[in-house]
Amino acid sequence: MSLEILLDKTEEELSKIAVAMGQPAFRGKQIFKWLYNGVDLAAMSDLPLSFRAELAKKYTAQPLVIHEKFVSKDGSIKFLYRYADGNLIEGVFMPHDYGNTLCVSTQVGCRMGCAFCASGIGGLVRNLSAGEIVAQAVAVNAYLGGNASDRKISNIVLMGSGEPLDNYDNVTKFLRLISHKNGLCIGLRSVSLSTCGLAENIRRLADENYGVTLSLSLHATTDEARAQLMPIAKRYTLKEVTDAVKYYFEKTGRRVIFEYAMVKDRNMSMFDAKRLRELTRGYPAHVNLIRLNYVKEKGLQGCTEAEAQRFLQRLTDLGVSATLRRSFGNDVGGACGQLRRKFLHDR
Ligand code: SAH
Repeated sequence: MSLEILLDKTEEELSKIAVAMGQPAFRGKQIFKWLYNGVDLAAMSDLPLSFRAELAKKYTAQPLVIHEKFVSKDGSIKFLYRYADGNLIEGVFMPHDYGNTLCVSTQVGCRMGCAFCASGIGGLVRNLSAGEIVAQAVAVNAYLGGNASDRKISNIVLMGSGEPLDNYDNVTKFLRLISHKNGLCIGLRSVSLSTCGLAENIRRLADENYGVTLSLSLHATTDEARAQLMPIAKRYTLKEVTDAVKYYFEKTGRRVIFEYAMVKDRNMSMFDAKRLRELTRGYPAHVNLIRLNYVKEKGLQGCTEAEAQRFLQRLTDLGVSATLRRSFGNDVGGACGQLRRKFLHDR
C-alpha cells in the first residue's frame, strides 16, 4: 500500500488527523511546521515517539528525494527529483537580484504535445499532487540550508514539466499551501503560472483570483502558425485564448505576460512583430522573448543572439513592451525538460 502524503494536507487537515489518532489538535500545527522545514517524521522531535511511529505506518512526510543536482557557473542549480514511485522530474533554482526563483513541475510528462518541447515527448505519465509540487520547494530550501523562515525561495514559476491548468485542483491547492504563513509563506504575487492556453481554466483562475501572474505561451501570431507548433491551438483559437487572458487582467488587475519562443524562420518576421502589437494592445501586457532551446528529438531550430536582438528591437520600435529572457544553466545541460529525457535515456 502506498503511503499518503502529509504535504498534501492543510494545517487544519493535519489537526483533524492528529485528533482522529487521539492527539491534541495542536499537533497539526507542529507537523505542518516540520514539514515545511523538510523534516522527516522520525525527526519531528516535539511529537511523542509513539505518535510518530503510528503516523509513519500510513503517511510519508517528504515524498521526494533530490536524485541529482548540477550547479551552473551562473549560480543556478538544476535538480532532478525522484518520487516514491520512481518517477523523475526536474526543477531549476535561479538566483536573481530581486530574490531567488524556483521553477517547479506540475506533472510527470505532459499531454499537450508542443512541437518544440521535451516534456511532452513520452506523453503524460501522471499528475503531481499538491504536496508533491510543494515538496520540490521544500527540498530545495532544505538543500540550501537554514530554516523555512529564511525564505530562500521567494519566487516560484510554474514552468517546469507539465501543463498547470491541466492539473487544476492540485495546482491551486499547491498555491494555497505555499502561501500559508506557517509554511513557505510565499506571496502569490511572486508566483508565475505559465499555460499553453486552456481558455476555460484561465477564466476559472481569474474568477478565483489567487493573484498569481499569468503567462501565456503564445509562440505564434496566427491560428495556422500556432497550430503547427501547439496542438492546443486546434482546440482554442487565438481569439478565445487572448480573450481569456484579457479577462484575467480585468478580474485580477495583474499585467499578463506573453511568452514567445523564437523559432528560426517560423515566427520572427515583421508581420509577426505587428501581429504581436495587435494581440497585446489595449491592456497591460508584456512579451517575454525566449530563444528556443534545441531539443534533438524535435528538431526545431532556435535563433542566434543577433536575430533575437533584431526581433526585440522590432517590437520595441512598434511600442510593444518586450524583453529577452535571460537563459540559465546552459552549461549544466538540459533547459526545458531535457535533463529528465537524458536520464530516462541513460537508464
Ligand atoms: N505547460 C506550460 C508550462 C511549460 S514550460 C506552458 O505551456 O506554458 C514553460 C515555457 O517554456 C513555455 O512557454 C514553453 O512553451 C516553453 N518551452 C518549452 N520547450 C521549450 C524549448 N525547447 N525552448 C524554449 N522554450 C520552451
